[in-house]
Amino acid sequence: MKPVIALVGRPNVGKSTLFNRMTKTRDAIVADFAGLTRDRHYGDGRLGDRDFIVIDTGGFEPDSSTGIVREMAKQTKQAVAEADVVIFVVDIRLGLSAQDSDIARYLRTANKRMLLAVNKAEGMSESPLLGEFHELGLGEPHPISAAHGQGIRSLLEAALEPF
Ligand code: GDP
Ligand code: MG
Repeated sequence: MKPVIALVGRPNVGKSTLFNRMTKTRDAIVADFAGLTRDRHYGDGRLGDRDFIVIDTGGFEPDSSTGIVREMAKQTKQAVAEADVVIFVVDIRLGLSAQDSDIARYLRTANKRMLLAVNKAEGMSESPLLGEFHELGLGEPHPISAAHGQGIRSLLEAALEPF
């Protein structure tokens, strides 16, 4: 069985860009509009000789209760349930938000292998800004740049380490 990795996080942090990196495709729609990927999207990835499946999600807004946004949260919860590993993606340029803390609280209850990817960190892998993400309680923050392809390999090595 290929391990399944789900990408979770609020809209616009770069999940679809990371999906495209991991699958080496342009299948996921990358958008400046928050929340464009409204349902789950599956792709095949490979690290060395290891194959895995990656699920892109539309974004997670745990406080929302209506319509399309609630549907996105539902899809994300289903992706987490299907996953062996969850990569929680946050945005170093926006910093830690209350919404990130809410999502992290949910994810800590999910009992999955969890990695914290701090995206948009091109040229910032040593930045002290990374430190604040420790308080999400999801372990060591992994600085990455999905757009520039930085830090992705070591993130995936860590994600797939037990498989
Ligand atoms: P999603 O809503 O989480 O799927 O985010 P997208 O992948 O659609 O990206 C949202 C925006 O962030 C787009 O304008 C991307 O080009 C931009 N973006 C994604 N990754 C990076 C990155 O590593 N660095 C920077 N500077 N921008 C990024
Ligand atoms: Mg997206």
